[in-house]
Amino acid sequence: MLGPVLLAAARSDTVRRIVSAAPVTRPVVDRFIPGERRDEALVAASELLAEGLDVTFDHLGEDVTDTASALRSRDAYLRLAEALADEGLGARAEMSVKLSAFGQALPGGDDLALRHVLPVVEAAAAASTTVTLDMEDHTTTDSTLAILARLRERFPETGAVVQSYLFRTEKDCQTLAAAGARVRLVKGAYREPVSVAHQRRSEVDRAYVRCLRILLAGDGYPMVATHDPRLIAVTQSLAARLGRRPGSYEFQMLYGIRPVEQRRLAAEGHRMRVYLPYGTDWYGYFMRRLAERPANLAFFARSLAGR
Ligand code: FAD
Repeated sequence: MLGPVLLAAARSDTVRRIVSAAPVTRPVVDRFIPGERRDEALVAASELLAEGLDVTFDHLGEDVTDTASALRSRDAYLRLAEALADEGLGARAEMSVKLSAFGQALPGGDDLALRHVLPVVEAAAAASTTVTLDMEDHTTTDSTLAILARLRERFPETGAVVQSYLFRTEKDCQTLAAAGARVRLVKGAYREPVSVAHQRRSEVDRAYVRCLRILLAGDGYPMVATHDPRLIAVTQSLAARLGRRPGSYEFQMLYGIRPVEQRRLAAEGHRMRVYLPYGTDWYGYFMRRLAERPANLAFFARSLAGR
């Protein structure tokens, strides 16, 4: 029951101010976000890479309400792309972007977001790496997929994300599972109405398996993003049955969540990519992580009570 409350709080400016200012917040945030600065994220990434894990960087930010902020997001990613080119890591270090940080919600948002994100995708290609477009709430799905299609005309390696909780997603998987297409499958992290999304965990999980089957049977490159042990086992057995070798798909998990399992999968020979967020605008991301697991909230509450 707490999940929806936390997801509502994730979009409240008042709660944002209170939570962000509380001194005890920082140590809890650190578990999920290795730093606010790019150099801190690069250090965290080099440690993961040295252990055989790959990464996708996320410069934190979402729901911008003016063009200046959208340009700041673009510039942060351009500087990141420069750093990645210097490091020469290629596809082992890619970038994930949220189009709402690029102006998607502003008037003329589709064109604006496309204009702002295109230089980032170009810079990624110049650095021999790729960009994946994160998926946000369902009101943005059509716009994000339309922008993806435009980007793929020149950069077919641009990654998509689909959320198994949405009723529409099996159909989207069928469309997206084309040759070479990189598609990340997640359960979905936003509060969605009954009219568009499964509400029960069991239904979301069953839909995940159906989507997984479509993506693994297709010609694309599935990116299986989940910490759920049952879904990881299902992926491995389905992949074996469909003749997919490790390397023709990958696992993805979030920084700080199930790190032992991340290393176990990498040691088994799987490509395992860690989603690595950094930046000052961590509030929305942090609240979604609390909403996913009540135990995180209990830990946070204990820290607050202990002061
Ligand atoms: P769950 O059933 O939620 O979790 C399974 C188990 O994993 C839990 O029992 C617990 O042990 C562990 N776990 C899961 N979450 C947490 C947590 N927060 N803290 C501690 N332990 C936890 N969602 C989107 O809507 N759009 C995106 O673009 C998007 N990108 C993502 C990229 C990556 C690489 C990953 C891994 C997730 C992404 N998500 C995205 C989030 C996703 O939708 C889920 O909200 C999130 O992954 C939790 O679901 P789960 O599949 O891990 O399963």
